[in-house]
Amino acid sequence: MRSFFLTMAVLAVLPAFAGASPLSDYRSLFAPFSLADGSTRIGIRKFRQGGVTRYLAIDPASLKTSVIPEGETLPLKVSVASLAQTPYMRELALHRASRRRLQNDGLVHARGAAQGVFITADLCPSARPFEREMFAAVEAAGGGSAVPVAVAISGDWLLKHSSDLEWLTGEERAGRLAVTWVNHSRSHVYRPAEPLERNFLLTPGTDFGNEVTATEILLLERGIAPSAFFRFPGLVSDAATVAALLEMGLIPLGSNAWLAKGEKPTQGSIILVHGNGNEPKGIRLLLALFLEKRSRIRLLPVADAVLSGGHGEEMRREGTGEGLRKGPVPDR
Ligand SMILES: [Zn+2]
Repeated sequence: MRSFFLTMAVLAVLPAFAGASPLSDYRSLFAPFSLADGSTRIGIRKFRQGGVTRYLAIDPASLKTSVIPEGETLPLKVSVASLAQTPYMRELALHRASRRRLQNDGLVHARGAAQGVFITADLCPSARPFEREMFAAVEAAGGGSAVPVAVAISGDWLLKHSSDLEWLTGEERAGRLAVTWVNHSRSHVYRPAEPLERNFLLTPGTDFGNEVTATEILLLERGIAPSAFFRFPGLVSDAATVAALLEMGLIPLGSNAWLAKGEKPTQGSIILVHGNGNEPKGIRLLLALFLEKRSRIRLLPVADAVLSGGHGEEMRREGTGEGLRKGPVPDR
């Protein structure tokens, strides 16, 4: 009996949104609502967890995501039409209107003037050790405050590197990293001999929706809220997969500075490195960049690439197809 009461006491102090709790009834939707403080959220997924119905919701002003119990949602206090002018909805509209490309579709640099760069580290499936040294160098660049970094995580990596994932979330809790968790698909299928048109998520028979939601569920079950961003494996996509992604409320995240390919970052660049041990060249270049520009390099949260503004001008430029990049995009 005593142990029963002890168990109940422990359960009582667990937070409402605890990790390691399975999800059910997972579905996509577009459900704008208000919170008690008058702010707006857009629920993009609805699910059951721990006997409670919850939303994975996006703040359309900041692009931050969180998990909100249904009981805390209130009827929308603003007009649905007004949501179209929010940074989040405008960003989705920009991607709908832009010309499709097989490689590197999506956001590749800041929309407006950004005084800094965005680091994105991909965790594709890998048997190699995780690049802890790189993350430590990123932390050192922050000089004591939580350093923003986007981690593009594949479900396959997550399942095979649980201690590395725990290290990352521990660094978040300790206030050394501020991670934006970017979905990098569940299986990250890659077949070296196949052309890009039939590779990665364009592999025939791929269940695209499941590739997206399965990784979200893996994260949510560990108490991690996936962000509004998705990185296509190999940066390879087509009109159908981008349309499906936007329909699910997610923003495709590309890069104009894949360091291992010799692309040089400038202000506002979304830098791509691999944090999974498969591309040491990119890590060497990033570490060299930190050494070289020690006091001048400023790291920004990837949502700022959207919030930096300049939407109207960007939409006109994208319509011309300017900035289309060529060259092979192998991925590990
Ligand atoms: Zn990858």
